[in-house]
Amino acid sequence: MNFFDVAKIELHCHLDGSLRPSSVLDLLRKKGLDGGINEDNIGELLKVEGDCDSLVTYLEKFDLPLIVMQDAESLERLSYEVFEDAYRENVAYLELRFAPVLHTREGLGQDEIIASVISGMNRAKSTYNIEGNIIVCCMKNLSEQAAIDTINAGYKYLGKGLVGVDLAGPEDEGFAQKFINAMSLARNMGYNITIHAGEAGSGQNVLDSIQVLGAQRIGHGVNLYQSEKAYKLVKEKNINLEVCPTSNLQTKAVKALEKHPAIYYYINGISISINTDNRTVSNTSLTDELDMVGKVLSIDMTSYKKLYESAVEASFADKETKDKLINRIRRII
Ligand SMILES: [Zn+2]
Repeated sequence: MNFFDVAKIELHCHLDGSLRPSSVLDLLRKKGLDGGINEDNIGELLKVEGDCDSLVTYLEKFDLPLIVMQDAESLERLSYEVFEDAYRENVAYLELRFAPVLHTREGLGQDEIIASVISGMNRAKSTYNIEGNIIVCCMKNLSEQAAIDTINAGYKYLGKGLVGVDLAGPEDEGFAQKFINAMSLARNMGYNITIHAGEAGSGQNVLDSIQVLGAQRIGHGVNLYQSEKAYKLVKEKNINLEVCPTSNLQTKAVKALEKHPAIYYYINGISISINTDNRTVSNTSLTDELDMVGKVLSIDMTSYKKLYESAVEASFADKETKDKLINRIRRII
């Protein structure tokens, strides 16, 4: 099946891991920080080539992008470009996520940072036939207060381009306990909640993310099988696992695509979505991810339609947008 041509839904994509190398180079040059960096080597500085040894090594690829993501104009541009790139491969809806706290080095407030990223998304939405929303990430390796600051900063944009909150970064065992108050605040404010869990960590982390923090979706959830309770809960509550195949291979969360636990989850009726995680760092596109998974799962148009519809259902879009997205896939089948 031709996954490039069909409408696609992406629920898990990080802004800072999805920048065009040419734009990063352009912005580095404007800042005079391009010493030793040029068209020939910018790609390898931003992308994981083949395997890396762990999630921690993978996360080092974000250092360079963050240098050029510290002013409003650049953030607006880079956000616009990710949506443009997604549109160009027929992504119908993209939930783009990023951590505002990582963009405050030059003095921007978190609310201005969020506004800039939403503004870039809105410019793309008014230019192209693509829908989207933003998710703010709080960092697991920072304090709970830092998470609360992000959640407060985003509040005024809720329902106006911002729809959810995430916990991202290196995954320690038991991380959920540290963020109980922050996520409770977010839930009360009306944020939707998705949490990276069971990627480098355990099935218990997935269980805690749902039970203790109120996650409605799980980023990755590779190790869900380790907790029988978590598995039952994910199935019962129809919690979507945001599966990112190439990223999981690169961070060694899984050894081979054929051994990815998501195959088992999918066959057993767990709701999964297929995502890029990081278009540039993982050197991939949603079409590439679906091509890979499509072969392993023998996805045909009927099963693709189900996958698409369950991703729409799991998205944090409003009802009107969901209806529009469902109509879009029904029209072509
Ligand atoms: Zn992620």
